Amino acid sequence: MSEPTRSSAEAADAADPLAHVRARFAIPAGTTYLDGNSLGALPAHVPARLKTVIEGEWGTDLVTSWNANGWWELPVRVGDRIGALVGAAPGQVLCGDSTSVQLFQVLTALARLRPDRHTLITDGAGFPTDQYLADSVARLLGLTVVRVSPSDVESVLDDDVALVAFSAVDYRTGERWDAPAITEAVHAAGAVLTWDLAHAAGCMPFGLDEIGADAAVGCSYKYLNGGPGAPAWLYVAQRHQDALDLPLTGWQGHAEPFALEPSYRPAGGIERARVGTPPLLSMTALDAALDVFDDLDMNVVRAKSEALTQLVLDYAAAYLPGVTSATPADPRRRGSQVSLRLEHAYEVTQALIARGVIGDFRAPDLLRLGFAPLYLRHVEVWDALEILRDVLATESWRDPSFARGNAAVT
Ligand SMILES: *Cc1c(COP(=O)(O)O)cnc(C)c1O
Repeated sequence: MSEPTRSSAEAADAADPLAHVRARFAIPAGTTYLDGNSLGALPAHVPARLKTVIEGEWGTDLVTSWNANGWWELPVRVGDRIGALVGAAPGQVLCGDSTSVQLFQVLTALARLRPDRHTLITDGAGFPTDQYLADSVARLLGLTVVRVSPSDVESVLDDDVALVAFSAVDYRTGERWDAPAITEAVHAAGAVLTWDLAHAAGCMPFGLDEIGADAAVGCSYKYLNGGPGAPAWLYVAQRHQDALDLPLTGWQGHAEPFALEPSYRPAGGIERARVGTPPLLSMTALDAALDVFDDLDMNVVRAKSEALTQLVLDYAAAYLPGVTSATPADPRRRGSQVSLRLEHAYEVTQALIARGVIGDFRAPDLLRLGFAPLYLRHVEVWDALEILRDVLATESWRDPSFARGNAAVT
């Protein structure tokens, strides 16, 4: 390990192939934003694009916009753009609804692909909504839920396992699982699997087609910067689409939505995953936000992400006594965040926010720092770590205004 310095951080910025991308975002002065894994920053051109859509399309073209301005195709078009960032060929990703709704869709439909099997495997440390929906789908379909860490999945795979649902990156610790190996093991047991890419899409390449994933879901307001409440997305591999029996049979997913038939017939391809009228304004904001990725190589994005998280781990080892990392030291095994384990993590998080360093707290003892590679500079990360060092050394976090109950948890 090389001990980091401010000048090594400056040198990394001078050599950063993504340095120019920061100007595409509106980052507030005086803020070091280490929470892009919760709500990505605003791409600077999004407000103007929304204004055009609101005033020109909605205001002037009105209902003709569904055809004239491409509103009807938007969920497919935006889906394909997201697909390009996660290794999915066109026609397999659809944008819409929330991650929670997409989880319900995918879990139910995958279980229906394996009607003779009765076990659903998920991660007991996974994000709550993923677990709640796994339980609900299991109740609906008469499945048994087995909880296991993704790294131990082989120990519970047998011929009763219908489906497996894991996140690619643990939202709390930032641990990144070996998706290709896990996918292969699940397939070898005859089961199908879905990946939740909430903490992967937009900060690393992901080869959904290449690893042979069956399905995936993800949200768009984290590293994809789609804005608060941006619609989520789902991926279903081409080979499963025709057999896919999705539970939410809305009119927009009908084979002939404007035939107004009394009973449901699914559309061909990924369009059967449409449900009802999508949130056009939010989806437009997301569509515009995705422009920032147009000329970027996700391998370059990932390399910067690794460099930023490495800087944090090296700094903590050198200058933050008593602070440990819940995030793996091996760069291949981490996402784009570092979760530092410390006493009084809640109060420390608040003290940092008061000084312009925005991260978040995850119970019971984690300061979770996310590193969006598109807009962060190494030197501002360095300066934020110096502030953390100062907060810990001076115990300024003891100020009563930072105590629990005085601030909203994000
Ligand atoms: C952020 C996140 C979600 C969010 O779900 P919503 O329905 O969009 O609120 C779901 N799963 C994981 C793993 C997440 O990290």
